[in-house]
Amino acid sequence: MTLAHNLGFPRIGVARELKWALESYWKGEQDQQALLAVARELRARHWRIQQQAGLDQVPVGDFSFYDQVLDHSAMFGVVPPRFGHDGGAVDLDTYFRMARGRAPSGEAAAACEMTKWFDTNYHYIVPELHADQTFSLSTERLFDEVAEAQALGIDARPVLIGPLTYLWLAKTRGEAFERLDLLERLLPVYGEILARLRGQGIEWVQIDEPILVLDLPAPWRQAFESAYTQLAVNRPKLLLTTYFGALDDNLHLAAHLPVDGLHIDLVRAPEQLAQAADWLPAPKVLSVGVIDGRNIWRADLAAILDRIEPLKARLGERLWVGPSCSLLHTPVDLDEETRLDSEIRDWLAFAVQKVEEIRLLRDALDQGRNGVSDALAACARAVAARLESPRLHRAEVRERTAAIDAAMASRHSPYAVRAEAQRARLALPTYPTTTIGSFPQTAEIRGARRAFKAGQLDAAAYEQAMREQIAHAVAEQERYGLDVLVHGEPERNDMVEYFGEQLEGFVFTRNGWVQSYGSRCVKPPVIYGDVARAAPMTVAWTRYAQSLTARPMKGMLTGPVTILQWSFVRDDQPRAQTCAQIALALRDEVCDLEAAGIGVIQIDEPAFREGLPLRRAEWDAYLAWAARCFRVSASGVADATQIHTHMCYSEFNDIIAAIADLDADVITIETARSDMELLDAFGDFDYPNEIGPGVYDIHSPNVPTVEQIVELMRKAAERIPAERLWVNPDCGLKTRGWPEVEASLRHMVAAAEALRAQH
Ligand code: GLN
Ligand code: ZN
Repeated sequence: MTLAHNLGFPRIGVARELKWALESYWKGEQDQQALLAVARELRARHWRIQQQAGLDQVPVGDFSFYDQVLDHSAMFGVVPPRFGHDGGAVDLDTYFRMARGRAPSGEAAAACEMTKWFDTNYHYIVPELHADQTFSLSTERLFDEVAEAQALGIDARPVLIGPLTYLWLAKTRGEAFERLDLLERLLPVYGEILARLRGQGIEWVQIDEPILVLDLPAPWRQAFESAYTQLAVNRPKLLLTTYFGALDDNLHLAAHLPVDGLHIDLVRAPEQLAQAADWLPAPKVLSVGVIDGRNIWRADLAAILDRIEPLKARLGERLWVGPSCSLLHTPVDLDEETRLDSEIRDWLAFAVQKVEEIRLLRDALDQGRNGVSDALAACARAVAARLESPRLHRAEVRERTAAIDAAMASRHSPYAVRAEAQRARLALPTYPTTTIGSFPQTAEIRGARRAFKAGQLDAAAYEQAMREQIAHAVAEQERYGLDVLVHGEPERNDMVEYFGEQLEGFVFTRNGWVQSYGSRCVKPPVIYGDVARAAPMTVAWTRYAQSLTARPMKGMLTGPVTILQWSFVRDDQPRAQTCAQIALALRDEVCDLEAAGIGVIQIDEPAFREGLPLRRAEWDAYLAWAARCFRVSASGVADATQIHTHMCYSEFNDIIAAIADLDADVITIETARSDMELLDAFGDFDYPNEIGPGVYDIHSPNVPTVEQIVELMRKAAERIPAERLWVNPDCGLKTRGWPEVEASLRHMVAAAEALRAQH
């Protein structure tokens, strides 16, 4: 018999029940008992879905009130000193304070840092470790949930993040030390946890070590061997799980660790199957991750069976089937999508449907394909219908992408020549001031959008309301004395959705929520077909804004890489291909803006960096096509049209050549929190074009002083010639209120004036 299993189920709930329960608890509207009850109900529901679908093992411990890494920190008693925890059990409010800085009880303190989980859009809470860190079992959560599942008759398989991955994801604080040195102290807690789970009658534990798909330093690789040897006694069987990529140079190591099974991701890295099957010694289990946990397409079950049936013959009971990774990264249930185009709906699978696919694969392996022929036939029909659908293909888009050449991917003249033409056209002072695009999204704006979507406000009235907002933002910017203005983006709900809704090849789900962090979810658009622009998307708003002022108005677009990165992307062609299609659609928009008299156009790429592959060896290929797509979108314009880009993060060191390769005339970046130090990367590289290093952190309500801004810009000028510097905030202002925006921007303008006077 083949074993069908899952690595994790989305915990937020089909109606985002967990989100609402958390937020009302945090606001003090509901007590903790109510929150605990919702959580219990969600766990039970999700276990039953998986059990009833026919899985042989169901993950337990994948539920989390906020984040699974934070769950482990709490379980190990890793609570930073500022939370005033004096050892002993870590309670739920301490846990929430670590995540959010505050909770209904306990003193507020600075929240722990949050960062992206590998190359996903999920964010985890970074553990903070000190040189004298100790670890002790400090929550009963996992054991309680196991007992809860067992009481419901679930074949529970507890999930743990492995000790090496946990340490790898942590940051060190205080006196410098190697976090790997803490392994010896951490392992006994793992030993204790495993022994207790064994005592609860658990047969298998899933232990996630996704860092095995990264380029690991030698000491970390060696540590795997000793750590798992140490954990080899008095424990349940261990399924070592890897995902998000190929094990590659770590495959031999992973195959020979003293564990009882190995899970590999065959969606991201199908090529590793043969070697893994050869190397994995009997009686170890090989779990094949064949259902895509990172995307929403219905699987081609016949194609998967073609690959794994021969394996079944070889491995017999040692073969398990599951998803590539936890289903945390997919929406919950396609059945909710009652309003989705029914043809496209048939091409999709969310978590509930993916669990059924896993079970079907097992049945096909065990009973032969004939045993499940109806289901396989339905699957084959849907898969074929998608690939053959005329809705996927647009000949003119294919021809155009095929015809992209070097000329289309580069500006007419080099930067120096363009800069000359732009100076003549725009006549800007030194240290020109601008903002990143959005102005406060007030209750009024959100109300108007809601009323419009609900049909209570007609298109003309909505347009009028947005025009008033634009007029207000423009007038304010003129009052503050900014040099390059923006329209303020009142009409945009979201920087990707706004464009996706107007592009061919995209669909939007009603309920396709995926957890981003804590109670926050995102609903990525689905790119199902060739992307094309039906009509101009931003030109009317921008032209209107420009008509209100004699100063340059900056057109505002989301870049091709960011649109790609924040969507569910089709899997029937390379990502680079889809990105090129988006780039061409944006190129047309850029050209139309130029034709409408717009002389400055910003193409935002905040997700450029997060598209980086997990393995270094793959970086160059990604950076080359990503930068090229950006340039395709930006290069249809004349020299005198100034292209900006914006990236709101602060790690450029290792991608600075690619950033220069974008050849944007101006890049605005996040620098305020790093005290301009990150400009070193640009300075050392002799970055040739203009830079606007953010002068204040828009995440904070604090208003920067003129002196602070002048001081930061002076530091910037030590690294980049003043002639090539701009003055702007770190990011868009949509989450701020008007009074702080006014105060901050007036200070910014005053600082620019002071700098010019000194220059
Ligand atoms: N133009 C966008 C804004 O100002 C950029 C947002 C972003 O960088 N994430 O809101
Ligand atoms: Zn930003």
